[in-house]
Amino acid sequence: MKVTFLGTGTSQGVPVIGCTCEVCRSLDYRDKRLRTSAHVEVDGLSLVIDTGPDFRQQMLRENIRRIDSVIFTHAHRDHTAGLDDVRAYNFLQEMDMPVYGKPEVLEQLRTEYAYAFGKVTYPGIPRLEMREINLIRFNINGTHITPLPVKHMNLPVLGFRIKNLCYITDANFIPDETLKKMEGTDVLILNALQKEKHVSHFNIEEAIEQVERIKPRRTYFTHISHKLGLHADISKELPENISLAYDGLRVEC
Ligand SMILES: [Zn+2]
Ligand SMILES: [Zn+2]
Ligand SMILES: [Zn+2]
Repeated sequence: MKVTFLGTGTSQGVPVIGCTCEVCRSLDYRDKRLRTSAHVEVDGLSLVIDTGPDFRQQMLRENIRRIDSVIFTHAHRDHTAGLDDVRAYNFLQEMDMPVYGKPEVLEQLRTEYAYAFGKVTYPGIPRLEMREINLIRFNINGTHITPLPVKHMNLPVLGFRIKNLCYITDANFIPDETLKKMEGTDVLILNALQKEKHVSHFNIEEAIEQVERIKPRRTYFTHISHKLGLHADISKELPENISLAYDGLRVEC
């Protein structure tokens, strides 16, 4: 299995428009963060988790020529705004794109992309095949995926476990029942926004506490704000088994 970090930035991305802070002015490529999304290659499947506003750019950068499914964690715009661009794959693969999400997430997508679901269609709209998931394990062409329910302030969000990889973005609470589903995690990808406390995201200290609960072999932090600090500085402060992810990073697991 191979995971590629398509984007590792929080909702505004890094640099933030108009910001002149040290991180936003940094020339280190690891301080340039598109909105959070990941590409997973497993059992010959090509999966994308979330399609944020930078989806098109991410697909071009990584030269991804096939996507078998898109899976959504939740319906915030920084995770959904690029969905229209799956059109490219509709053309290339001559098929509708399977889109997995909880009922309320699919409902929100139907509202945001109403033109793709209208009675009157026209050429060039994205062709989406909505597939409802709930909290029960599902499979895509035989590959099992376990939803990991977490909380993002009051919003229930899904993380996903694929084999021994767990991916959780946009959370500030992981219930005990979800923790059980994460037993034996080899690689954990978890959100760590900034140093200060935040209402809907783990800050870095809380994220480290979660790593201590989950006990994976290796952890990568994502969904990072410019407020966290320079990649090079923060990386030095982290425990040995935790790294900050950066855009384009590839992990084999
Ligand atoms: Zn987000
Ligand atoms: Zn900044
Ligand atoms: Zn969110």
